[in-house]
Amino acid sequence: NADTAMYHAKAAGRNNYQFFAADMNQQATERLDIERKLRHAISRNELALVYQPQFASDGKHPTGVEALIRWHHPSDGMIPPDRFIPIAEETGMIVEIGDWVMHTACREMKHWIDSGLKPVRVAVNVSARQLRRRDFCETVAGALAESGLPAELLELEITESSVMENPQEAILILERLGRMGVSLAIDDFGTGYSSLAYLKLFPIDHLKIDRSFVRDIEHDLNDRAIAFGTIALAHSLGLNVIAEGVETPDQLELLRSNGCDEVQGYLFSKPLTGGAAFAFLHANAGAE
Ligand code: C2E
Ligand code: MG
Ligand code: MG
Ligand code: MG
Repeated sequence: NADTAMYHAKAAGRNNYQFFAADMNQQATERLDIERKLRHAISRNELALVYQPQFASDGKHPTGVEALIRWHHPSDGMIPPDRFIPIAEETGMIVEIGDWVMHTACREMKHWIDSGLKPVRVAVNVSARQLRRRDFCETVAGALAESGLPAELLELEITESSVMENPQEAILILERLGRMGVSLAIDDFGTGYSSLAYLKLFPIDHLKIDRSFVRDIEHDLNDRAIAFGTIALAHSLGLNVIAEGVETPDQLELLRSNGCDEVQGYLFSKPLTGGAAFAFLHANAGAE
């Protein structure tokens, strides 16, 4: 919070305050710079999707991919999503970008299936701002119709906080999407605030355990308790669980032996460009 930061900076003395103000000024300039450049990113073809495979917890059978956005700016190079997605959200540009992501992901998966890939689902991240739009369900329906991708193969990843902004409204939207046949996942589960009472009411299919609970699962007993508790809770609500950020065989084994259904992480694959993802899925599709 800027005000609190100012207050502490002031309390720490005049020099610190000036240092802080300069720092915040620089941050603001950077934001404006990103905002200005982002306005042209779609029309200048600077955005691309990469795809990270997801597996059944045997670590062998692919169940899907998560589409993740990448922005290659001609002079600034790769700008990571954590740096521009929040700005796209605040400015509303996420609506156009999100639309592009949805259409591109559906089209590309349909293309892979038409090229002989055994069908798996493609998961697309949806931000709170997109979900709040009255025409969001039409956008999803449009991407499915335009691409010809069966609705069952599209999964939408939504965070706890974005559904908790207005739970009553969110339930209606998620129910509509569910009736269309689209599957729904709660992303980054455990990092936000969510009410279990509401969770029960959401027509969701997957809970994604956040990477922060997986990272130290071998050594941190609290993280382990949260991860295992989430699996038990999800199963008792009839949901599948997918763990993100799985990097080691030990993490995989702990999750698998405690009933985690699916896994995603660098242990299996980093996010891949479209062509590489297709080849990877194709090569792993028949694995026994
Ligand atoms: P997320 O949806 O939780 O995506 C998972 C992030 O974890 C991705 O980072 C992925 O590359 C990274 N990851 C996967 N496996 C591992 C692992 O084993 N170790 C580590 N250290 N990291 C791993 P990425 O691609 O930088 O995306 C960051 C966030 O940006 C995403 O988090 C999501 O919230 C947002 N994002 C990405 N693409 C989109 C998009 O198309 N639309 C929206 N609204 N948000 C997006
Ligand atoms: Mg995600
Ligand atoms: Mg996530
Ligand atoms: Mg996460």
